[in-house]
Amino acid sequence: MFASVIIDQDTKALDKVFDYRVPPDIKIQKGDRVLVSFGARMMQGFVVDLKENTSFDEKKVKDIVAKLDDEPIIKSEMLSLMNFMCNKFHLRLTSVLKLFVPSEIREGKVRELFIRWATLSKNFSPELLKNAKVQKRIVEALLEIPKIKLSDLKKQFGQSAVNALLEKGIVKVELERCLRKPASIQKEEKKVVLNDSQKNAVQSVGGNGIYLLHGVTGSGKTEVYMNLISRVLEKGKNAIMLVPEISLTPQVMANFKSRFGDNVAVLHSSLSAGERFDEWKRLFSGEASVAVGARSAIFAPLDKVGIIIIDEQHEQSYISESNPRYDTFEIAKFRAEYNNCPLVVGSATPSVDIYEQAKQGKVKLIEMPKRANGKELPKIQIVDMMNELRAGNSGIFSSQLISDLANVVNEKKQAMIFINRRGFSSFMMCRECGYVAKCQSCDVNLVYHREDNRLKCHYCGKQYKALDRCPNCGSDKIKQGAVGTERVVSELKEIFPDVKILRMDNDTTSRKNGHEKILSEFRESKPAILVGTQMIAKGHDFEDVVLVGIIDADQSLYRGDYRSTERCFQLITQVSGRAGRSKSEGKVVLQTYSPRHYVYRFAANYDYKGFFKKEENLRKTAVFPPFSKIIRILFAHPDENVVRDELKLCYNKLLKVREKYFDDIIYMDAMKSPIKKIKNSYRYQVVIRLLLTNSDEIENEIFKCTDQNLKSSVFFEVNPESMS
Ligand code: ADP
Ligand code: ZN
Ligand code: ZN
Repeated sequence: MFASVIIDQDTKALDKVFDYRVPPDIKIQKGDRVLVSFGARMMQGFVVDLKENTSFDEKKVKDIVAKLDDEPIIKSEMLSLMNFMCNKFHLRLTSVLKLFVPSEIREGKVRELFIRWATLSKNFSPELLKNAKVQKRIVEALLEIPKIKLSDLKKQFGQSAVNALLEKGIVKVELERCLRKPASIQKEEKKVVLNDSQKNAVQSVGGNGIYLLHGVTGSGKTEVYMNLISRVLEKGKNAIMLVPEISLTPQVMANFKSRFGDNVAVLHSSLSAGERFDEWKRLFSGEASVAVGARSAIFAPLDKVGIIIIDEQHEQSYISESNPRYDTFEIAKFRAEYNNCPLVVGSATPSVDIYEQAKQGKVKLIEMPKRANGKELPKIQIVDMMNELRAGNSGIFSSQLISDLANVVNEKKQAMIFINRRGFSSFMMCRECGYVAKCQSCDVNLVYHREDNRLKCHYCGKQYKALDRCPNCGSDKIKQGAVGTERVVSELKEIFPDVKILRMDNDTTSRKNGHEKILSEFRESKPAILVGTQMIAKGHDFEDVVLVGIIDADQSLYRGDYRSTERCFQLITQVSGRAGRSKSEGKVVLQTYSPRHYVYRFAANYDYKGFFKKEENLRKTAVFPPFSKIIRILFAHPDENVVRDELKLCYNKLLKVREKYFDDIIYMDAMKSPIKKIKNSYRYQVVIRLLLTNSDEIENEIFKCTDQNLKSSVFFEVNPESMS
């Protein structure tokens, strides 16, 4: 018997399947983790296949040295999924491996945690130990409390006495497996009676297939998800529930824990290694049957999956942007098909792509058009900032927003101010010569952070001294560019000196639980204003938020890619959804310099369908996705000549593909990336747009042009989220 083994090391050279002989004394199954000798070294590998014969020279095929676990680590569904991903996203087996087996297990640094309890092994009279006073006292202690932690016992009475008792067999050690549980807050389970549209939603999901739950913010989608999960658990099956990392707050977790108790295992990036290890093991062994987590939870090692749910379907974070690049939705689709179970995706602002699929009948549409508590959605008022300028107000805030904020403060309520950028202002520029401070390793503008008076690169994290003089011309007329969160906070503090003003962005939440600290401080302060980036747009349910201000909506509109209007619509709707969720009515002030843009008109009326229709038309006319496919191949290398040469090499091959599919390829060009350099790597790209006819076939041919030993790192993306 021979085993096909992949070596656990993510390099191109090792991205092959190697054959090893299975020795008669080791029982090997597919998915087993094994030790094999590779060259002069011992390496860890995973068995991906078993077969009677090998195509290699049998004499040279080595034996598997050892099997490392009792049972296979990669289950058979996951082995199929690995292959699917490699084909679908043009990835290497060795690079997807890390998604399936957490590093804590692969590297063996984290182990199961055991508590060692000391107990008496038999009834024993301490009197027999009268010459050993300390030992006698230990036995007396154990007669009093039958189980004491061994370490405590040693601390109190000393090593030698305890060891002596262990040797004599008077005291024995019991091991107890101890799970490291992610911290969670306790919450009473809220008993909710489903309303009609929720009932309808739950009933509509049946059998396999993809369902799109289009429900306005506050329509009670979470309750629908929980009911669907309960139904699945009753049938003895398991469930996977994905939410964006950013909305995976302790609040949200508490909802799930109060409903499903220890059945829930959480997987997300801020767990400690030990917690992640134990949660993964609980899912693997079937101890837990509901996996809740961010994108990576789609790889939860659960058997018998009965439903997969993706909340906030439109979220960008479901696309992994770093290697290995993948789209969570495609993986969910694969697992749902494999398990013959439904896949439910929910959003108040579905992506144009999925809504188009629903329109074409490939996805079943379920609608929840009303808020669960019967409240109206907050009124969105568009404020024309050009008018403000004409009236002499060149500040960040419109007079409307200031007066509405003043009302909130008077009534001791809360407001949220949304701004797209962290930091104090986006850049520092010389007014005399136009010099803009840039990062030396990444070709991007630096962002000024006033807290520490430094310029920071948001791509590589490098910090620089703030400018007081232009390094180019020596002028001291330094201007700060567009506004960031910090600047908004500092101006608000001047206007409302006695009001609690909090800031939430990547900088204030980078520490563990930083997120939750800010939110709970906000929850407890009234009046209060929370200023934040995207982060405040998601899922928070604050009863007293009656006003939402959107400072620079246009920022997301003019990002310059085909999805910007879609993103802008989503953002406005999501942020607005934070207001007036409970007793009090809510209001949104939306500041813009382009008040007549269709995206604002539709967003202000919560008219998703109207927006979709307009957007669908535009994309059809311009032949953009979902009516075409955009492929970007990004090449990056520290030596600019290397990237340029390799790009040329590939491009010449691509020209042949274009010749062959001349009618299908709308556009193809090679160029420097908009961000020419990140972390000292030069970036070049080829962008190709093609019609959907034959697009899978062409995609594969295009991929083949780049699939060779190149020095540059190559990223292959379909309909990329960002072209920068
Ligand atoms: P969504 O995720 O659709 O934005 P949520 O699931 O957060 O909405 O629900 C919004 C609020 O409505 C929550 O406070 C929730 O507890 C409440 N809610 C949900 N369903 C019901 C119901 N049937 N009756 C009353 N309140 C409900
Ligand atoms: Zn200058
Ligand atoms: Zn940088």
